[in-house]
Formats: sequence, C-alpha cells, structure tokens
Amino acid sequence: MPMHAESLDMPMDSSPVQDSLSALACDPAQTRGRRFAEAPAPTRNAYQRDRDRIVHSTAFRRLVYKTQVFMNHEGDLFRTRLTHSLEVAQLGRSIARALGLNEDLVEAIALAHDLGHTPFGHAGQDTLNECMAEHGGFEHNLQSLRVVDQLEERYPAFDGLNLSFETREGVLKHCSRANAEHLEQTEPGGVGRRFIDRTQPSLEAQLCNLADAIAYNAHDIDDGVRSGLIGMEQLLQVELFAHYHQQALDEHPGLSAKPRRLLYEAIRRMLSDQVYDVIDTTRQAVADSGVGSLEEARLARPLVAFSPRMKLRSMALKKFLFAQLYRHPQVMHTTGQAQQVVHDLFTAYVSKPAEMPADFAVSADLHRSVADYIAGMTDRFALREHERLTGRKLL
Ligand code: MG
Repeated sequence: MPMHAESLDMPMDSSPVQDSLSALACDPAQTRGRRFAEAPAPTRNAYQRDRDRIVHSTAFRRLVYKTQVFMNHEGDLFRTRLTHSLEVAQLGRSIARALGLNEDLVEAIALAHDLGHTPFGHAGQDTLNECMAEHGGFEHNLQSLRVVDQLEERYPAFDGLNLSFETREGVLKHCSRANAEHLEQTEPGGVGRRFIDRTQPSLEAQLCNLADAIAYNAHDIDDGVRSGLIGMEQLLQVELFAHYHQQALDEHPGLSAKPRRLLYEAIRRMLSDQVYDVIDTTRQAVADSGVGSLEEARLARPLVAFSPRMKLRSMALKKFLFAQLYRHPQVMHTTGQAQQVVHDLFTAYVSKPAEMPADFAVSADLHRSVADYIAGMTDRFALREHERLTGRKLL
C-alpha cells in the first residue's frame, strides 16, 4: 500500500491508537449478508459496494432539493439534506478512523441515513405522519429503510438496493415497537429485532447517530446566523458556543473585526472538540466495559458516546436551536405552508390515485403508496404538484 503524504507528517502520538477498537469493528468479510444472494464484487468489499449503490440511487440525488432547515429556494448557501449527509459522512469517517471502526460502513450509513426524509424537513414528516395515523403512520427512519429495501428500482432481480445487513441496521436508527414487530414478521431476526430485544446496533451505527447530531448542531448555527434569524448575542448565551468563541478571540484578537471568520473559527473548534470528546469517551467506555467483540458490544450499553459534560452542552445547544431557529416565526410561517402542501397532496392522491404514476396508483395499499410517493418528492416538485392539483400556489 502506498503511504499517503499526510501520514508521513503525522505526529507520532496520534497513530498508536489507530486500530485500538478494531476487534469491535464490523468486518465486511463477516457480514450477515444481503437479503438476496449476490456474487462478491471483484474490487470492492460489501460496505464499499453499499456506499456506491447509495451514491448512484435516485433517492440520493433528490437530497439536494430537500430541506434541512431552510427551503432550497430561500438561499443557495444553506445546507440541504445532501450537504448535511456529506458532512455526517466526513465527521463519521474521521471518528471511525481514529477508533479503528469501519470507515466504509460509516460512510454508507451516513450517506443513506436521511434518504427517507420527506420534502420540507420535519414539517413534511409530521404532516405525513398525521395523514397516515389510521394507516400505520409515517416515520422517516423506517422510510429510509423502505427506500433502500423496496422503493429504489434499479436491479433486474430484486426491489431496492439489496444492501448488507450492517448498513440497513445503521439506516434504521429508531423504530417503534409496533413497527419492529412488523419488520420481524417479514424478516425474522433481522433489522427490527434489536428494538424488541433492546440491544445495540454496531459501533459504526452508534457513531453515525452522534455524527448526525454533531453535524446539524454546527451547521444550523452557521445557517441560522447566515439567515439573520439568530444573532451573535443570542448565541453567546449557549455555553458550548460561547466557550469556543472566547477561545478563538483570545488567540486571535483581530477576529473581533471579522465576525464571519470568528463564527467559522468558533464552530470549527466546537466541531473538533466534540469529535475528540467522542473518541476519548468511547475508548474509555470500551476499556471500562471489558467488551472484546462486536457480539458482546451489541449486548452492552451504548459505547460510542459523548462525555456527560459534552452531552449536557450539546443538548443545551440543541434546545437553543429548537427554540430560536426551528421555532422562529419566519421558519414557522414556511412550516405552516409546507404542512398545507403535504396535506393537500395526500388528500388529492388518495381521492384520485390516477394522478400518481402507475406504479404507485395500482398498489394494494393505497395510503402507503401515497405516502411513499409524497415522501420521495423534492421540495420544488411537491410545490409544482400542489399547484397542478389544487390550482393554488404556496410558498
Ligand atoms: Mg441527519
């Protein structure tokens, strides 16, 4: 293997722990496999192949036009579901590398974790869940699994992308007991099982959950300030942010005249410290637990975690963003209209299934089919369809 130039520059003290957890990492050679047997790929392991299938999927390309917090048309520089997913993959890989976990698996899970999100972010998901209340509900984690298991149509022999068990397990981040039992009927001992047994997923899956939170907490500060909805004085009330803001100013007093660079520097330090915190805390948790294999790790408490102090600070930031950004009147105004769009679309397709493409219109379970169709839409396609079906232009 050729040595990367950067590894020559790496300080000695950062390398000895590189594969300290590798006994707990998922090994593609030991995968629990795919739902439909396939010959191995000649040049890629199972998780690399999963990642490639995800990147080439239609649902992945749609992420670029799906809202994270701000709608796509509100500005060109805000995060979308796509850039969010890329940031989760980047953070996840960095942490995985330091911990000796499987980077390819982390990347595959991170890139797929939001594939089931509806248009218009949480407003869309909540409304679709209400519309589906009598028909099994709608949950975006389960929908991500549906996308990779069933809804992508690319292969002659099966529906979905036929991903490895470990990737699918990571994609199904949360699942209600009722949905888990339903999954268990179609796939006994499969990805629903751990929600019934209350065991843990792989460390790579645990890691992706944290990388997701680290990513959105940081980028939502950036987008919140960029949009003008969050002010610096407000942000300084958040301990996690204020700490790094002050640290950056102390080291670079000149930044007080460059507010945007100061913001980036504070966010960068905040991100780095959360990453190091997860790495240190996880190493310690693994050492304390005495867990020596992936099978044991599945039965232990969650091992990939923040320190208690960082967890509190991260939760305080999350609470702040919830109150000040996600519930900001301007965001709520958009939210209200987005809910109307999803609700109207649902009603329209249920009463006139022929308005949907034939694949969806002829389904045995019409309501689920309508939910699948709407969930797959980008923000702007949903708005166009809404205007076509109702004659009203919203947003
Ligand atoms: Mg996410």
